[in-house]
Amino acid sequence: MTVSQSRFFAHQPPERDRVPRKVSDALRIAAVDEERGDRPIARSINLLREASLLTDDGTTDPVRTARALMQVGAANLGAGRLLEGHINALHLIQRYGTEPQRQTVDRRISDGAFLGVWGADGNVPVTRDADKPLNGGKCFASGLGTVSHALVTVNSGPDVRLALIDVTDARRADPSAWNMLGMQATVSGTYDFTDMAEENVDWIGAPGDYLREPYFVGGVWRIAALQIGATTGLLDVAAAQLRAMDRMQAEAQQTRLMTVLMRAWAGMALTERAAQATSAEDVSSEDIVVTSIAARLFTEEVGLDAIRAVEQSIGLRHFEAGSETGRMARDLSVYLRQAARDAFLQRAAQTAVGANGRIRGVFG
Ligand SMILES: Cc1cc2nc3c(=O)[nH]c(=O)nc-3n(C[C@H](O)[C@H](O)[C@H](O)COP(=O)(O)OP(=O)(O)OC[C@H]3O[C@@H](n4cnc5c(N)ncnc54)[C@H](O)[C@@H]3O)c2cc1C
Repeated sequence: MTVSQSRFFAHQPPERDRVPRKVSDALRIAAVDEERGDRPIARSINLLREASLLTDDGTTDPVRTARALMQVGAANLGAGRLLEGHINALHLIQRYGTEPQRQTVDRRISDGAFLGVWGADGNVPVTRDADKPLNGGKCFASGLGTVSHALVTVNSGPDVRLALIDVTDARRADPSAWNMLGMQATVSGTYDFTDMAEENVDWIGAPGDYLREPYFVGGVWRIAALQIGATTGLLDVAAAQLRAMDRMQAEAQQTRLMTVLMRAWAGMALTERAAQATSAEDVSSEDIVVTSIAARLFTEEVGLDAIRAVEQSIGLRHFEAGSETGRMARDLSVYLRQAARDAFLQRAAQTAVGANGRIRGVFG
C-alpha cells in the first residue's frame, strides 16, 4: 500500500490536485536514500520542476498551492520544505521586486535556478554598513548546494532588507552545522556572507517590506500545509503497516488512528481556509494573519498527536533503523519546530478573542 493508493485525499475534487501520482510516488521512494545522503535532494527538486511546481508563487490559486504542499509533504517532507522556501522567495520577489528583477528571476528559474529564504541569523547576524561589504552569516539555511539564489535578510528590526544573492559558493556553506535528528535530506546548515561585495547583492524591495502583513506571518499557512501533509503521510504509512501486520482490525488501533485522522482532516480544512483568505478581498489583513497562525499551530498539535499515536500503534518496530514511519516521524517532529509559536498564539488571541465585538471567524 502506498500513499498513491491512499483515500485520505479522495474527498477532494481531482482538479484541486496539482501533484501527479507518479511524482508523489517517486518523491516518497526517493526520501529513503535522501535521508541517508545516498541521493541528492536536487533530483526530487527536478521532479517538482518537471511537474511545473516551481513557476507559481502561490497567489494564482492559493488553495491549490496548499494542496500541492500537502501532497509533497505527505510524500517527502524534505523536498516539501525546499519547495515552500522556493515559493516564499518567488512570492516576495514578485511582490516587492522591480519588473526587470522579476523577469530575471523567471528566466533563471526556467534555466534551472532554485530559490530559498534564509532569515535565521547565525552567531554573527548578516548586516551591512554603508559602502561596506556584507558581514555575518545565516544558520538553519535549507538546501545548501540545491538553492542557487537565496533571499537573505540583512540587518534586523523594522528596517530589515531583502537581498537576492547567488549562494552556490560551496566554500561559504557548512552543512555539518545541521546536526539535527531529522530533516537530514534538506542539507541545511550555515552560510557565511562575510566580505561579500555589493555587486553580488540584488536588493529586493524597500527596508521593512519583508515584515509587511498579511504576507509575513500571514504566509505561515504554507508551513501548515506541509505540516498537515506530512501528518497524513505518516498516518497513511502507519495504517498500511498495521494492515500488513493484520493489526488494523483491533478496535483500539482503529480508535487511536481515526481520532487523529479526523483532526488531520480538520487541519487540512483550516489550512485551505487560511490559504483561501489570502485571495479574498473582504478579509482584513489581521484576519488573514490570525487564520494563518491558527492553521500553523493547529496542524502542529495534530502532527504531535499523530506521532504519539503512530508510536503507540506500531510499537517498538517504529524505532528500528530503516523504519519508514520512524523516519517520517523524525522529520515531522523536527519540522514542527517553527519560530515563535507562543508569540503567534498570543497575537492570534488578541485579535480573535480579545478585541471588541464577538469572537472572530464564527459569526461573520
Ligand atoms: C527543517 C527546517 C528547515 C529550516 N530552514 C530554514 C531556512 O531555510 N531559512 C531560515 O531562515 N530558517 C529555516 N529554519 C528555521 C526557522 O526559520 C526557525 O528559525 C526555527 O524553526 C525556529 O524554531 P525554534 O523551535 O527554535 O523557535 P523558537 O522561536 O526559538 O521557539 C522555541 C520555543 O521558545 C519560545 N520562545 C521564542 N522566543 C521566546 C522569548 N523571547 N521568550 C520566551 N520564549 C520564547 C517559543 O514560543 C517556543 O516555545 C528551518 C527550520 C527547520 C525545522
